[in-house]
Amino acid sequence: MKTLPLLPVLFLSLLLTACAQEPAEPPATTPETAKAPVVPAEAELSFVDLHTVGKIDPAITKRLKAFIERDAMLAVRVADPIAPAGAKLVQQADSAKGQLDPKAMLSILLTSEHKGDPGHAHLNPTNKIAVINVTNLVDEKEETTMRRLERQTTRAVAVSLQLKPCPNPQCGLFPYRDLKELDKIGRGFCPPCQMFREQAAKNMDIKLRPAFVPGVAPAAPANGQAGSNGEANRNAPDGPAPQPKK
Ligand SMILES: [Zn+2]
Repeated sequence: MKTLPLLPVLFLSLLLTACAQEPAEPPATTPETAKAPVVPAEAELSFVDLHTVGKIDPAITKRLKAFIERDAMLAVRVADPIAPAGAKLVQQADSAKGQLDPKAMLSILLTSEHKGDPGHAHLNPTNKIAVINVTNLVDEKEETTMRRLERQTTRAVAVSLQLKPCPNPQCGLFPYRDLKELDKIGRGFCPPCQMFREQAAKNMDIKLRPAFVPGVAPAAPANGQAGSNGEANRNAPDGPAPQPKK
């Protein structure tokens, strides 16, 4: 029987999977890490540019960079700040067009200058720009704010890959109605959406980072903190999941 020696391995991987799904709160702040080593393969990956508009806490940019790299499996560059323009998010997107690197698969603008626009984000799949209205997503708890912003980056990447909203409330692509509901949905891509993402990336010639396997250090760590807490749990809702819309 050649299959017998495989059983312990299978059991071990099942055990690892089960362990990886244990709920674990991520640390309130991301630990300081060394500068990411630039490996040659990194240069060939598709990348997201993160820009700030107005005053944005550098801790936000840092956390979102790490989140997108790990969760959306894309390289991230922290790019130049963009001058505020217009009262609406869409005006900011239009105004920024000429200032963005066309090679970026997506440029995310984090703005603190659009308090007058009630929207959480402006996402546009055709011009590869997403404007995230940080001011409207701030909560008194820093961790809640960070998670709201992470969800918006997941949605921004998904829209740029032309993925559809997802009926699974444990997925970041669930169509939430208000902040309360936003706080309950998952932050990252659910397994079917991960599959759609990979398919879309292939079709659009977007090069993703290697998959992150919970509990296993990736060959080329994005930021020197592979395997840190909370990574396996990014899709666990923060509270009772909202019911999908009828
Ligand atoms: Zn999904």
